Amino acid sequence: MLVFFQPWTGNHGRKRAGARGPRRLPSLLPVLFSLIMAGCASGTAGQGDATMNNPTANVRLLAADDRPGPVVTVPKISRTDEEWRRRLTPEQFRITRRQATEAAFCGKFYDHHADGLYFCVGCNLPLFDSRHKFDSGTGWPSFSRPFAPENLATRTDSTLGMTRTEVLCARCDAHLGHVFPDGPPPAGLRFCLNSDALRFRTTDQVRVLAADNAAATAAALTGTTVPAAAPTAPAVTKATFAAGCFWGVEATFREVKGVRNARVGYCGGTVANPTYPLVCSGTTGHAESVEVTFDPAVVTYEQLLEVFWNSHDPTQFHRQGPDVGSQYRSAIFYHTPEQKAAAEASKAKRQRSPQVIKPIVTEIVPAPTFWPAEEYHQRYAEKHGRAACPPH
Ligand SMILES: [Zn+2]
Repeated sequence: MLVFFQPWTGNHGRKRAGARGPRRLPSLLPVLFSLIMAGCASGTAGQGDATMNNPTANVRLLAADDRPGPVVTVPKISRTDEEWRRRLTPEQFRITRRQATEAAFCGKFYDHHADGLYFCVGCNLPLFDSRHKFDSGTGWPSFSRPFAPENLATRTDSTLGMTRTEVLCARCDAHLGHVFPDGPPPAGLRFCLNSDALRFRTTDQVRVLAADNAAATAAALTGTTVPAAAPTAPAVTKATFAAGCFWGVEATFREVKGVRNARVGYCGGTVANPTYPLVCSGTTGHAESVEVTFDPAVVTYEQLLEVFWNSHDPTQFHRQGPDVGSQYRSAIFYHTPEQKAAAEASKAKRQRSPQVIKPIVTEIVPAPTFWPAEEYHQRYAEKHGRAACPPH
């Protein structure tokens, strides 16, 4: 996307006595603005290769020192309105997906001074640092610069009878606010944000996340499996699988005779007590997983493996259909050496099957800590009358 420089007007779409009016651009502004434009040139919807089915964004994630890491290419996050409504509060949806603006002096962050980082409420991308927050007097949270220019996208907004520059998340295209040329020196920028487009984490929380990110990134770069937490005690009646969106996988196993229980959760990553939004961000290393408790006198582990192979496409790497990301990878988390041997034999047999022409990419790894997912994800298909996930 190419955005030409526009005269800057307005202060977030609302007028307020005492608010700063438009002013001429300082000389540094075009330079920094060019940097932002360059940074997000491959980051906005439609800015990448339009012919690609899976557009990507070039962004900077947290490094171990809680500063921006190197530029990495990540899949863009695209969801239906229905899916966004499930993940966001009505106000968060109205702002990030409908370009609304919160009332001045009403948002939770306009007068917020804690040290930490502000993340995208839609996808947890780090967007702003409290070190760059300043009191603009406008009633909206204001920052003089982004966490990383790559993490923001911009486009011209000509609504409300003025020309402004809208600021969006480069990964999920959430509307965040606008950027104006009346900020403090040296750059003279004011990023005017909506509180409900942001999620705040304190410096201590950020450091834990940054350390986890560094471990996951290092593992991903070297192609090794992320070190798992301490394995749970062997349980012969437990089996744990990852096969894409966990709603449908859980529903499939619940229908198997001999399965006493199935629950959805997160497995194989580095973050303790992960939440669904965090796992969705693709930064935890966790896979959406299903833990099955079964009666081996009624159904064998080998039979469960057959159900597993038939429930998804194990030749797709880090995706299942429209769901893309390592959290949707195919994996068998074995609890005993016997389960490991059975899983490897079953995988080899499946690979020899004439129906399977591509290499199976399923990981077979020790069962790490299983973190149960939030209650609203449990028995999701049952609660919502669906046997499979809707398209994301
Ligand atoms: Zn986002």
